[in-house]
Amino acid sequence: MGGSTPARRRNRTEPGNKGPGAVCAACTGSTHRRWQGRKWKKSLRGRGVQPRPLAWRKEQPHLQKNGQNEERKSRLLACAKQNRAGCGRLLPLRLAAAAVLAAALLALFGCSAKETEVSETFFVMDTVASLRLIGDKEQAESLLEQAAALAQELEARWSRTLPDSSIDRLNAGETVVLDQETAALLAQAAALSVETGGAFTPTVSPLVELWNIGEADSPPSREEIAALLPLPSPDFLAQARAGQPFSLPEGCRLDLGGVAKGEAANRICVLLRESSLRGALLVLGGQVSCVGTRADGEPWRIALRDPDGQQGETLAELRLTDLHIATSGDYERYLDFEGVRYCHILDPETGWPPETDLRSVTVVSSDGARADGLSTALFVMGLEPSLAFWREAGDFEAVFVTSDRRVIATEGLADCLSFSNGAGGYRFEFTA
Ligand code: AMP
Ligand code: MG
Repeated sequence: MGGSTPARRRNRTEPGNKGPGAVCAACTGSTHRRWQGRKWKKSLRGRGVQPRPLAWRKEQPHLQKNGQNEERKSRLLACAKQNRAGCGRLLPLRLAAAAVLAAALLALFGCSAKETEVSETFFVMDTVASLRLIGDKEQAESLLEQAAALAQELEARWSRTLPDSSIDRLNAGETVVLDQETAALLAQAAALSVETGGAFTPTVSPLVELWNIGEADSPPSREEIAALLPLPSPDFLAQARAGQPFSLPEGCRLDLGGVAKGEAANRICVLLRESSLRGALLVLGGQVSCVGTRADGEPWRIALRDPDGQQGETLAELRLTDLHIATSGDYERYLDFEGVRYCHILDPETGWPPETDLRSVTVVSSDGARADGLSTALFVMGLEPSLAFWREAGDFEAVFVTSDRRVIATEGLADCLSFSNGAGGYRFEFTA
């Protein structure tokens, strides 16, 4: 294939660019028909989802890159120090007038005088995480610690790279007695793979290891990639049961990187919802989860970053309560080599970064793991197959940013999304 693929044209993003952002600022207060209450209101579209054909598959050219992620962790944390939310994924605006405004809103909405905001930024699951909690100070501080500890604990089970994690042990050929959370996540990953026709494939680990995006300074050879294909089917994961011994088939290795942060967000949000906090905003890299409301009683505001823009240049703002938002894109983790960009998401069929017409996909769902896994899968599929998938699934909404500078939001977001023009030159639309 020639040099005009979307992957090959992605040279405008500077290495310093970060992921999509979320901005929390004073809310103007609109109504949110589809997200009132604590439950996602399913749309009336059909629910039955069949395995999908791999219609978006194409042969991929040889790829190259230059490794620039060696100092990723320190860069992310340094960046997080500036915006407390991690490199643009979530950029809470510390407005000078915030204190005055908060006092006024407290009076207006009748919040307890004891209510306060507690926040923390930390590194977990190979990304910057941040948590903001609104409520009783003592309770919020305790929950902050519990949530951070839970994230670390789940990482210790689900990381591919941490020695002795459940996934590391399985990948090493050991038999592992599965805990309830891990068994459930493996089964969900298998179901997502079937549902997305293999665009999401948790047995992608050998390819992820081979590409080693973030460390390698050149791409693997065609021969090395071809030797790993086809990937083993992840269907066997559906057999995972809590409390039962489990092992992987010969030659099979797992990578839950496309879904683990979303499931960690699910688990942390369960903890937070059990409390009497007014609200919370959790960021785990590209995963943002909101619980309840902001201090002023309004929905949380989550801004989606322009893939080509600088920090703070956003393309859309979502106003949500009690939902998970996951973004996958080509500009968070990648390899630039000889003028070509290769992103960290791989097409499990070709073994190469996908030849997609998308720059980023954001999925909004009541299930964090589903949002996370689908954003990865839809990025692989490309725009039209993703829209067909969305129409059929009926249980999530999405925002797509395309290589030809279109921003396409699904109609279910109409009441809670506003567009903004980022670095400029974008066209915006809602789709049905
Ligand atoms: P995300 O950033 O959530 O889109 O997830 C990307 C991560 O998921 C990568 O860093 C890999 O660990 C893993 N991954 C890459 N491609 C795929 C794929 N097609 N299916 C499942 N997991 C993938
Ligand atoms: Mg994902």
